[in-house]
Formats: sequence, C-alpha cells, structure tokens
Amino acid sequence: MIADRLQTVKTTLPQGVELVAVSKYHPVEDVMEAYHAGQRVFGENIVQELRGKQPLMPADVEWHFIGHLQTNKVKYIAPYVSLIHSVDSLKLLGEISRQAIKCGRKIDCLLQIHVAEEETKFGFTIDECRQMLCEGAWRDLDGVRLRGVMCMASNTDDTKQVHAEFRRVYDFFTEAKAEYFADAPEFFIRCYGMSHDYNIAIEEGSNMVRIGTAIFGERSYPLNS
Ligand SMILES: *Cc1c(COP(=O)(O)O)cnc(C)c1O
Repeated sequence: MIADRLQTVKTTLPQGVELVAVSKYHPVEDVMEAYHAGQRVFGENIVQELRGKQPLMPADVEWHFIGHLQTNKVKYIAPYVSLIHSVDSLKLLGEISRQAIKCGRKIDCLLQIHVAEEETKFGFTIDECRQMLCEGAWRDLDGVRLRGVMCMASNTDDTKQVHAEFRRVYDFFTEAKAEYFADAPEFFIRCYGMSHDYNIAIEEGSNMVRIGTAIFGERSYPLNS
C-alpha cells in the first residue's frame, strides 16, 4: 500500500523535484515500508518523535526536521539531522550553529517564510527575513549553511490564493539569491507543497515537496494511538 502510493506520488514529480516523505505520526513499520520501497528522505515535525524513530531506522536515512523548533531542543537532533526546514529566527539559527559546531558538523537550513493567512503558522515575514539577511550576523554562523526557503500556503480551496502565496516566496527566493547568495550554488532549495497543494507548488517553482498523507494515509492523532 505505502509502496504503491509512494510510487504513484513519485511518478507525478518532475525531474529535479525532491520528495520529503513526511512520516510524522506514523509508526516505524510504515516508515520502513517506504524505506524498502527506496525512499531515503523523511520529514518529522516533533523532536521527541524523531528522537524515537531515528535509532530504529537504517543509518542512511536523511532526516529532515520540518516542524517548529524550540532552541532548547536543537541539541537533541544536531548530531544527525540533515536539513532543518523551519528556521524562523536568527536566535534559532545561532543555536543550530552552536550545536552543530559542538558535533563537528555544519547543518543545512532553510528559512521558513510566513505567507499564509493563518496566524498559527510560523516563519519570518518576508520583510523580517529581508532585514535579517541585510543585517548580516548570519554570515558569522559557521555551523550552518543556508540552502534556501520553505513555506506553507494557506489551507484554502482558493487555488488562486495558494498560487499567489507560493509565488511570493519564489520571488523572495530569487531576490535573496541575487542579493546574498549569488556565489552560493548550494542556496537553491524552494521547499513548498504538501499532499493537497504540491501540484500548484511545482507550478510555482518548488523543487522540494513535503508529502505525508498521500504516501502514508491519514494520520491518527494523538501520537502512538
Ligand atoms: C505534516 C506536514 C506536511 C505534510 O502534510 P500532508 O498534508 O500530510 O502531505 C508538510 N509540511 C509540514 C511542515 C507538515 O507539518
């Protein structure tokens, strides 16, 4: 089942669009099923859940952290996390850098941009992100490498609005790339699109999608039930 759905999703992704299989709230057996079907990149959004799964999965899994991250929890995932999608403050970026250096690593990060209308979603506004980049303190953080931007669109049936939100993030990516990362080929990731809106996201320039439900089925809340 999971293998079939994974295959189906993969056939809909154009070349150059990376798939993050969002395994949050799904048991390790399900994650293993996707692993055996060839998937290596998985996304989790709760530190505690990731800490539980990571040691149970093969070492060549690339774990992406996609949820809101509190600075006091960075240390738990710093030894192995391969990409943190949810950087929403300079303070968090600084802590990731500090913990990465402690582990002798450099951790790849995305800047999370808030464009959705829901107040509950996290991220820099475009203006805040612009200002943070302009101020330049991020350049001194040797433990992190900025790889691009991430966002979530509003949860709405208004596809025009979803298109517009993704496009704002694409435009901001282009601006930041030209202004600050023209000499940084690693800054190329535009991560947006989930199960219900990834087709729109790809039309608006996404090259990394985070897909859970379309692969693993509906999540059962709460955790472990
Ligand atoms: C849960 C989650 C997803 C995946 O959502 P689906 O609708 O299940 O595909 C993507 N991104 C983030 C940040 C998430 O928390």
